[in-house]
Amino acid sequence: MITETEKNKIAIVTGGSRGIGRGIALTLAERGIDIILTYHSNKTEAESAAKAIRELGRKVDIIQLDMGDTSTYGRFLNDVNEILQNNGAEGFDYLVNNAGTGLHASFENISEDDFDTLYRINFKGAYFLTQTLLPLQNNNGSIINISSAMTRLTVDGGSAYAAMKAAVEVFSRYLAKELGPRGITVNAVAPGVIETDFGGGAARDNAAFNEMIAADTALGRVGLPADIGPIVATLAADDGHWVTGQRIEVSGGMSL
Ligand code: NDP
Repeated sequence: MITETEKNKIAIVTGGSRGIGRGIALTLAERGIDIILTYHSNKTEAESAAKAIRELGRKVDIIQLDMGDTSTYGRFLNDVNEILQNNGAEGFDYLVNNAGTGLHASFENISEDDFDTLYRINFKGAYFLTQTLLPLQNNNGSIINISSAMTRLTVDGGSAYAAMKAAVEVFSRYLAKELGPRGITVNAVAPGVIETDFGGGAARDNAAFNEMIAADTALGRVGLPADIGPIVATLAADDGHWVTGQRIEVSGGMSL
């Protein structure tokens, strides 16, 4: 049930077109929140996610965004501003920095270009998109940054990716302190392995890999996009508002 202060809220979900972001956008919409979702190149998937949100009775807008190119953020801010004005809203309430890409490569083989791309999308992107959007964020809102269980584990080929996500977690804690006076909470949600297109869809499509992860997970299966939305919605809601500056792992107990 949504409370009186939770009515007419708006969430921006980056990478809300597919996978975990789509699951988060749908859960937030189910809980009465209007959505602005971004995609990078797959407009068809973004439109499909938007249709599902509309069917839940919520307003939804789609914006194209390349997280890896900060020079486009000014245009993105203008697009968000225009959507808010059209909806008669002064600002948005929740930002979910979810869009991201992976990289599986051993330390010896990783190229500087691959490292920079990963950095621009996963860390620099989340950092400066948040800074760009902050003037439009309402007080008492929430920022939820999607990290990964890999910051706790040590997984072959994960040194660069896990380090970017670790940076996201530290940034989240510092930002929680800076934005506390505005009543804005900031947390990092760290999913375990989730069945999406990520990493070539291996967790979903490679039966042997799926079984291996399930066997190493306390709750006995690989995660699904629908497993992540509820904790994000809880952190955004009034019930979760005393939680800030935290890393919350949502992995069904992976590699405990
Ligand atoms: P998917 O590959 O399924 O979806 C990625 C989403 O991000 C899509 O909406 C995609 O848009 C968007 N995106 C990709 N590249 C860019 C870019 N350069 N600029 C803007 N948007 C972009 O990934 P998941 O849903 O699995 O992952 C979402 C987040 O969760 C990521 O941050 C990932 O690191 C993290 N994560 C994933 C785990 C997993 O096992 N799946 C585990 C732990 C964390 P488009 O459709 O247009 O390409």
